[in-house]
Amino acid sequence: MVSNNISGEYEAVIGLEVHVQIRTRSKMFTRVPTGFGEPPNTLVDPVVLGLPGALPVMNKAALDAIILTGLMFECDIAPVCKWDRKNYFYPDSPKNYQISQYDMPICANGRVEIELPGPSRNVMGPHRHVRLTRIHLEEDVGKLNHFANDSLVDLNRAGTPLVEIVTEPDMHTADEVFAFLTALRQAMVAAGISDCDMEKGQMRCDANISVRPVGQQTLGTKVELKNLNSISGVRNGVDYEIRRQIAALQRGETIVQETRRFDMEALISTPMRTKEEAHDYRYFPDPDLMPVRVDQAWLDRLRARVPELAFDKQRRFFEQYKLPYTITSVLVPDRALSDWFEAAVDGHVERAQAIANWIVNDLLRELAATGQTLADCRIQPSHIAGLVEAQESGVISSKIAREVFAEMFQTGESAAEVIERKGLRQTSDTAELEKWCAEAIAGKPQSVADFKAGNEKAINAFKGPVMKASRGKANPKLVDEILRRMLAEM
Ligand code: ADP
Ligand code: MG
Repeated sequence: MVSNNISGEYEAVIGLEVHVQIRTRSKMFTRVPTGFGEPPNTLVDPVVLGLPGALPVMNKAALDAIILTGLMFECDIAPVCKWDRKNYFYPDSPKNYQISQYDMPICANGRVEIELPGPSRNVMGPHRHVRLTRIHLEEDVGKLNHFANDSLVDLNRAGTPLVEIVTEPDMHTADEVFAFLTALRQAMVAAGISDCDMEKGQMRCDANISVRPVGQQTLGTKVELKNLNSISGVRNGVDYEIRRQIAALQRGETIVQETRRFDMEALISTPMRTKEEAHDYRYFPDPDLMPVRVDQAWLDRLRARVPELAFDKQRRFFEQYKLPYTITSVLVPDRALSDWFEAAVDGHVERAQAIANWIVNDLLRELAATGQTLADCRIQPSHIAGLVEAQESGVISSKIAREVFAEMFQTGESAAEVIERKGLRQTSDTAELEKWCAEAIAGKPQSVADFKAGNEKAINAFKGPVMKASRGKANPKLVDEILRRMLAEM
């Protein structure tokens, strides 16, 4: 269950800090490869281990990725990118500091368009923008694995480039948070920056939550919620925390500023640390790394790589192809699928709706049934238009079209090839059709009487047997005409 934003007289305010791992081949300041699921401490070298004398060298692909992120979300890009050390003492970072950006984040301001749930799944919901405060680049740290009597450090993750996206306190419901993370993930995946798989820790989210009386301008005391490791986990955690704070205020308690941990199984949050225990990170510029100038030519190169964002594409699909929301809401979130659709529709815009229907209904069903992805699928995008054409021109019936599609999916042949090879061309041979119609009429005297008595629908009783006799190949329009003529003559 997801709450609404207002419970009685209180309103929730939420700001997020989202970390996204950039999918680079090597780590942020050294050549060691990035990776997930490798044996512990195999993706390390003197830089990752923080050995004395090891020096960092910037990975340009990581800088490209963060600037691309900023451009996607309409941020201001700083002309110079500089690095700071965030100092703390903990085994996940053997250098005893993390390289990050403090007072000069590379991206500032910006916004992300989100769609809130509509009145039903088939109806577009309201859209709005969530404002961003900043986006900066930092290195990920190692992972501690806790056991009964001891804890072990795995530094494979340490040094992976990480984007931190900080929002303004601009959201008010768990649904808005869910919509924000969904939009953010879609954009990052579409741009090829990250796979954003929360289960693999590629996207992580801390939620800052406060509540205040409706109408109050100043923000309430915030609680930072951690350990939200799936998008629906975030939704549950935010929802729980809003209810907990409102209940506390209603009991006359005050909210303490603290960090809480959300338990994904028990669906409750428990305190981790309070403000008094907050770290002093003693930030200062990293003397090992030179600032990087971001010039116009570099920005222009990256601007050319900014993908069309999902909601822009959805609006374009509506205008250009006249596709309804029920179709665009399936096609658009999946970039590979919407690219496939656009390849299929290339040169056949007038058949866009029929083509989209085949893709969204039949293609997706066959892919799911066979456990394939678009990449392994044999059917060619350009073949769908041929199938639609064969059906529209009456060469095959809609029933046969489904059979042709199934065959196309298996073999990769074109519709015309399947129709020829299997002899599926619709029969418009009048003599043959008349023979089947006469047999059908002879077999159903009661339906003849019903039709004669004015029951229009009784004619359908003859069509089944005709289709069966023709093995689905009888031209339905001709069959209808012949049946009517024969019945009128009786
Ligand atoms: P801190 O100094 O604790 O890091 P910041 O002001 O930098 O806090 O904000 C961190 C995040 O918390 C941002 O996403 C911001 O939008 C959010 N935030 C700040 N104050 C509040 C509040 N009172 N209620 C909800 N979210 C808040
Ligand atoms: Mg802060």
